[in-house]
Amino acid sequence: MVSSVQSIIAKVQAECERTGVKLTPKRQNILLVLLRSEAPLSAYEIVEHYREMHHESLPAMSVYRILNFLVDNKLVHKLETTNQFLPCAHIACDHEHEVPQFLICDKCHFVEEVGLRKTLVKELQESVKKTGFEMSNQQLELHGTCTKCRGLDLGKGKNHHF
Ligand SMILES: [Zn+2]
Ligand SMILES: [Zn+2]
Ligand SMILES: [Zn+2]
Repeated sequence: MVSSVQSIIAKVQAECERTGVKLTPKRQNILLVLLRSEAPLSAYEIVEHYREMHHESLPAMSVYRILNFLVDNKLVHKLETTNQFLPCAHIACDHEHEVPQFLICDKCHFVEEVGLRKTLVKELQESVKKTGFEMSNQQLELHGTCTKCRGLDLGKGKNHHF
C-alpha cells in the first residue's frame, strides 16, 4: 500500500506541474494523511493524524485552507452529510471525472465513490430545475450498509483504482 500511495503522489505531482497547480509540501502531507486513512476523516482528525504522521502540528485554520484547495482541485472530496474528507478514488486516473456519488456505509464508515451517468445527472438537474430550486452541489451521498457489512462478498473489494 505504501508504494502505491507514493506512486499516486508522484502522479499527482506530475499532473499538478503540468496544470500549474502548486502542490506545496504541506498540501502534499495532508493528501498523504487522507491517502493512508482507510476511512474518511473530519478536519479535526486530519489535524491529529497530521501531527502523528509528520511530527509537526498544523493549525486547524491552515488545515481548512489546504482542504479547500485540495477539494477545489478535485484531489479530495468533501462529504457534506458527514463533514468528512476523503481522497478522490480517481486521483491517479487520466479519464474525465464524472459527477460523484458516494455510497457511505453507516456501520464501518467505508465510502465508495461511484460515477453517475451523465444522462441521469441531466434528468436530476431538470427535475430540480422545474421546481425553481437552484442546486449548488450535484454530489449525491447515499447512506446504507456496504457489501462487507451485509456479509456479501462480491469479490471486488475497494472500488478504488489503486
Ligand atoms: Zn472523485
Ligand atoms: Zn478512474
Ligand atoms: Zn460497511
